[in-house]
Amino acid sequence: MANTNDCIFCKIIAGKIPCAKIYENDSLIAFLDIAPLNPGHTLIVPKKHFERISETPESILFEIMKAVKKIAPAILRAVSADAFNLGLNDGKIAGQLVPHVHMHIMPRLESDGFKHWQGKKYADGEAEKVAGRIKSLLK
Ligand code: AMP
Ligand code: ZN
Repeated sequence: MANTNDCIFCKIIAGKIPCAKIYENDSLIAFLDIAPLNPGHTLIVPKKHFERISETPESILFEIMKAVKKIAPAILRAVSADAFNLGLNDGKIAGQLVPHVHMHIMPRLESDGFKHWQGKKYADGEAEKVAGRIKSLLK
């Protein structure tokens, strides 16, 4: 667990910074993202500070997904959307700006212009090699 003194989400959890809270339980809090992809864009944040998935206990990851299932339908109804993306930026290069693990729930609207990522192609035999390497590293 990293130092939490400078963590903006720890400050929100401690009530030192305001947020538009929509849900809270013993292990996590959910509030609106201050710069939403669309209205209703929500962050689910564990109350304990962990930076990355690899450091976060499985039980907390499970709680996050349970909260997604509970909260997402209400978000969609509230903003008249019927689809959403989940996003978890794990690491700076992946776009993680706040080093406190969190899940984005992003309601999607047909008009939002947010595109699916552009997939690349594997060279012949490359996918098998990569899959083999990954499998050999799984414990
Ligand atoms: P990430 O890039 O996955 O680390 O996302 C961090 C998110 O936190 C961004 O979408 C920010 O808009 C959001 N954010 C930063 N500060 C606040 C804040 N004080 N209240 C709500 N959301 C915030
Ligand atoms: Zn934190």
